[in-house]
Amino acid sequence: MSNLNTERVLEVRHYTDRLFSFKTTRDPAFRFLNGQFTMIGLQVEGKPLLRAYSMASSNYEENLEFFSIKVQNGPLTSRLQNIQVGDEVLVGRKPVGTLVQDSLLPGKTLYLCGTGTGLAPFMSVVKDPEAYERFDTVVLIHGTRFINEQAYGDFIEHALPEDEFIGEAVKAKLKYYPTVTREPYIHNGRITELLDSGKLPADLGLPPLDKDNDRVMICGSPAFLKDMVTMLEQRGFDEGANNRPGHFVVEKAFVEK
Ligand SMILES: Cc1cc2nc3c(=O)[nH]c(=O)nc-3n(C[C@H](O)[C@H](O)[C@H](O)COP(=O)(O)OP(=O)(O)OC[C@H]3O[C@@H](n4cnc5c(N)ncnc54)[C@H](O)[C@@H]3O)c2cc1C
Repeated sequence: MSNLNTERVLEVRHYTDRLFSFKTTRDPAFRFLNGQFTMIGLQVEGKPLLRAYSMASSNYEENLEFFSIKVQNGPLTSRLQNIQVGDEVLVGRKPVGTLVQDSLLPGKTLYLCGTGTGLAPFMSVVKDPEAYERFDTVVLIHGTRFINEQAYGDFIEHALPEDEFIGEAVKAKLKYYPTVTREPYIHNGRITELLDSGKLPADLGLPPLDKDNDRVMICGSPAFLKDMVTMLEQRGFDEGANNRPGHFVVEKAFVEK
């Protein structure tokens, strides 16, 4: 039996010449934990061409959603960026990943820190009722260079609080903090510096980062992850794993080649 499902594209949305998202059908037997990723791709010259992608949809939703980069000469995304409604996409049946809530110790505030397409796994977590049961406050931070890369901003601010299933929890507990580094915006600056200086928690009326109360999930470029881990470890935070929950968990949004 193949380890890939063939799904059909239901919707495609382009944000910039570097970013798009799409929804597909979902095999009902495909189960995952919010925050996980799987291999997805296209048939190219009769063979599957696959890359790791986080699910941007939550595990109770009927369809799957992915948030993607467009790399102009990228083997997969130079093709994937041209998909149309009705096209076939391959979706691996074995979701995996470290950004899962069971790898975190109990705490008061959950910080979800994503740069670029590193937002994707957190779009699944912010729709997860369990996140709001476990934590008093969930903070979603999205760092990008430009405003038009804040792809899900409208959805997070306007649609999510009105969602029939998760809206009440979102209104009560979710704080959204979009930040941009290269042009003026409601928030400016790098996530690491905003957290380290205490500005970001203070802007949200929260105390400075502290390992007794705060839990952190991180997804972004390799350089961002390195800076975040250094900053957290200096504050005594330990990385969590499946068999040993900790104060933070990390996943690369992509691998530098
Ligand atoms: C655990 C994991 C989860 C991932 N989840 C996603 C996701 O949800 N959405 C997504 O778009 N990509 C994601 N990626 C990256 C993805 O697997 C591919 O690298 C990406 O789709 C580009 O594929 P490609 O074949 O076109 O180019 P590749 O040959 O895979 O990449 C070429 C180069 O493009 C750059 N690059 C690749 N992906 C990105 C990115 N997302 N943001 C910025 N620069 C990038 C890197 O410099 C890379 O070396 C993930 C990667 C990992 C390891």
